[in-house]
Amino acid sequence: MKPPVPSPFPFDVRTARKTGGRTDPGSLDEYRLSALRAAVARARRNSPFFRSRLASYPEGFPRSLGEYGALPFTTPDDLAADPYAFLAVPQDEVARIVTARSSGTTGPPKRVFFSEGDLAETRSIFAEGMTALVPRGSGVLILLPGERPGSVGDLLVRGLAPDMEGVLCSCPDADGTLDTIARLRPDCLVALPSQALRLARHPRSSRGRCLSAVLLCSDYASDSLTSAVEDAWGCTVFRQYGLTETGYGGALSCGEGRGMHVMEDGFFFEIVSPGTGELLPDGEEGEIVCTAFRAEGTPLLRYRTGDRGRFIPGDCSCGSFLRRIDVRGRYGNGLALPGGWVPLADLDEALFSLPWLGGYEVRMNGSSPVFFLEVPSLPEGILSLPEDLEREAGKKLRSLPGLDILPPEIGLCLAPPRDAPLAPSKRLVLRETHPDRTR
Ligand SMILES: [Zn+2]
Repeated sequence: MKPPVPSPFPFDVRTARKTGGRTDPGSLDEYRLSALRAAVARARRNSPFFRSRLASYPEGFPRSLGEYGALPFTTPDDLAADPYAFLAVPQDEVARIVTARSSGTTGPPKRVFFSEGDLAETRSIFAEGMTALVPRGSGVLILLPGERPGSVGDLLVRGLAPDMEGVLCSCPDADGTLDTIARLRPDCLVALPSQALRLARHPRSSRGRCLSAVLLCSDYASDSLTSAVEDAWGCTVFRQYGLTETGYGGALSCGEGRGMHVMEDGFFFEIVSPGTGELLPDGEEGEIVCTAFRAEGTPLLRYRTGDRGRFIPGDCSCGSFLRRIDVRGRYGNGLALPGGWVPLADLDEALFSLPWLGGYEVRMNGSSPVFFLEVPSLPEGILSLPEDLEREAGKKLRSLPGLDILPPEIGLCLAPPRDAPLAPSKRLVLRETHPDRTR
């Protein structure tokens, strides 16, 4: 059963509280400018990287949002090259160090430092965010990693309001996770998109019908995947956007309109042309650039996320005054094929609309992709023969530009064991096909 949408949206309340009562886009611009000025001053004072980068910039920079847009970007390569150059608190005030490797990228890992203040900020975002999903008193089952103190699952469990019960589930497989859901009957599930889909299309997925809300995070969630989870359980699916580097906060969907509302009190997003770096107007898709106003351990100004997104023009039907951002996966994630570039987000959108698909992998055999499709249980009726499923999947794939000129090679993994691992939790694109690893 779907939960009622809370009104006002909890991040409207948070933003008004944190910004001195601002509740309209015009007055938020004033807040953004003063918050950026403070973030720049703090980064310059405390972080060697920004002390050097901002050496020639005047005190009081930026004087306008336009001026801020002229500041050079900070890149993941900058961060990976020398993480200690970013460190902006004394080392004994570092409460947690996270080594982040973005999904689908092969670059060196990035080390990010969080102070106790940074972790408290993340917990408070999680606490208020969860009240957007389910009423107080609800139970929340969390599939995110949470064994270590300060890990994302741990911060979420500890950040929940005292009257919400959070349980970390470390079951490695779908069957065990569905048993846990049947036993605990949580109201809300927090999971990676691929985990949620595997559960929703599992032969025993009906065990999840107790869920009224599902929060998909840590990876791009296509519309087709979101609809599949909503259809399986009759719940509302929420999406969250945030980077490990900036403490996971950023934007959250409201359960009504498209996209995700930006947590304007703590984050400043810009959309830029990935080629020229120029700012793009609302509605146009480009690369998301993020500044976290209050980051203490590792401040990042104009950080290039590598994510594709756009601001959605106009107001949301939920009535929130917060801008909305639509995220469409990562620029680097996709297949370079002779017929052109195929973004992984487009593959997700096409393949997850197949009602019998539980997950997929792509392996590159030279320049040809081989698609391995997981079929958790054979659908009943006319489309029950593997050849029919392959034909149906081939039709979906050939509808994508870049895949329209070649007949895609497809392998089916029919009815994988019910205790097959729930991980790997993110979709895979493997660059080579090794005969001994082919199913
Ligand atoms: Zn909304």
